[in-house]
Amino acid sequence: MSVLIFWDNDVDPGLQQPVVRMISDIIEMPVYAEENPVMLRGFDRMRNQNDASRILGDMQDIYTRRAGCRDSILIVTGKDLYIRGRDFVFGLARPGVNVSIVSAARLKNSWYGRPDRDEDLMDRIVKEGTHELCHCMGLDHCDNPECIMFYPQTLDELDRKRKMLCPQCRESLNIYRFSE
Ligand SMILES: [Zn+2]
Ligand SMILES: [Zn+2]
Repeated sequence: MSVLIFWDNDVDPGLQQPVVRMISDIIEMPVYAEENPVMLRGFDRMRNQNDASRILGDMQDIYTRRAGCRDSILIVTGKDLYIRGRDFVFGLARPGVNVSIVSAARLKNSWYGRPDRDEDLMDRIVKEGTHELCHCMGLDHCDNPECIMFYPQTLDELDRKRKMLCPQCRESLNIYRFSE
């Protein structure tokens, strides 16, 4: 079991290797990254956002069905994402087909008018990317505000999370790992 990250060309490529390492450390699985080969569709001109469900639907067709890909796939993109009924999402997962996506757009300080810092952005991509991947591995949301599986409503809540799973969520991930 391993994780494949598709890194979109609108996110700083210099962050890719540190993010890969950190996610691999948290979930204790091999993680590797490639340049994103997929055209991300579902752009809504009025909203200036991409429909995350549409993107994951395309992924499902391309990879999981046609190529029979067995890895958990995570797309890291710079495009701002939404789903129907919500103004925006940091990310989205489709557990049944093992594909997920995280957007760096609202994880950047500059979105909130503050100076950007690579460490902040990397930390947040790691937390939210791992969060979506873990949904694909059967984990639900967690009440522990420091756990990666906590569902953050704001950037501050996201920053309060640590780059780790609480003991209970870790246990759930182990059950998933050894049941495959
Ligand atoms: Zn979630
Ligand atoms: Zn937890």
